[in-house]
Amino acid sequence: MSEFANDFLHRFELERAGVRGVFVRLSDSWNQVRERADYPSVLADLLGRTLAASALFTGNIKFDGALSIQIKNAGPVGLLFAECGSDGRLRGLARWTGDIADEAALLGATPAPLLAITIDNRDSGQRYQGLVPVEDAQLSTLFERYFERSEQLPTRVLLACGDGRCAGLMLQRLPGSVHADDDADAWNRVGHLLASARDTELLALAPETLLYRLFHEESVRLHASKPLRFGCSCSRERVAGMLHSLGRAEGEAAVREDGMVEVTCEFCNTHYRFDRVDLEQVFRGAGDMAAAPIRH
Ligand SMILES: [Zn+2]
Repeated sequence: MSEFANDFLHRFELERAGVRGVFVRLSDSWNQVRERADYPSVLADLLGRTLAASALFTGNIKFDGALSIQIKNAGPVGLLFAECGSDGRLRGLARWTGDIADEAALLGATPAPLLAITIDNRDSGQRYQGLVPVEDAQLSTLFERYFERSEQLPTRVLLACGDGRCAGLMLQRLPGSVHADDDADAWNRVGHLLASARDTELLALAPETLLYRLFHEESVRLHASKPLRFGCSCSRERVAGMLHSLGRAEGEAAVREDGMVEVTCEFCNTHYRFDRVDLEQVFRGAGDMAAAPIRH
């Protein structure tokens, strides 16, 4: 077995079938996301697979920014959010109330929640958002529908979570590939091969071993791996902006007895503290908040 990092993304091609793919596995980054809250196991499993998917979908797009996946108001889950940046930084969280019996209670909620995939492009400042109704389906099926509707790209997605890891494997049929088989069954053939992968294989095998085991007759070409890691994009400047948007009345209401306002980032637990002088600057919209020290 070759050496491989704990958190990585691998792009690959199945040249004979005219298919491109991405394989992602998360361990350290996933554990950092998971340990921030006492998630019920059903929800942790869903969050892990969503986090793996957010990294997976950055594999085939060229952009400078972040891709996020969000589901709101799914039964007892108020919010499920996962994000991966083009720099390989991942973060995610879920908010929930009460008990969660099984995944059907979330994804089968009525009225059907929407799954949103958002790409924020830092360079151009442009934002693209695609929506797919959650309609009582497996998470991977929702993502396949999303790609088929929004990009007209036949797509297969496999996601797995367990044993402190999560993983994703995606295949997309290349439009008009020169290398594609004339064999119209190529897409179905690789789809069946993909479906034969077990969760334990996605979560544990070295990428080369996994892809060879699944697709050894399909001329696999594996590209260099990209490292992934936990990371948050919060900053004192953004928190100041958030306080500013709340307005003075709400900001003043949050001042504690010691005269400070403290805001804790839900993703990374960084504490941002503002004293009265800071707050005055925030509500005047003056001062460079980013220059002030950040306390962890
Ligand atoms: Zn943060």
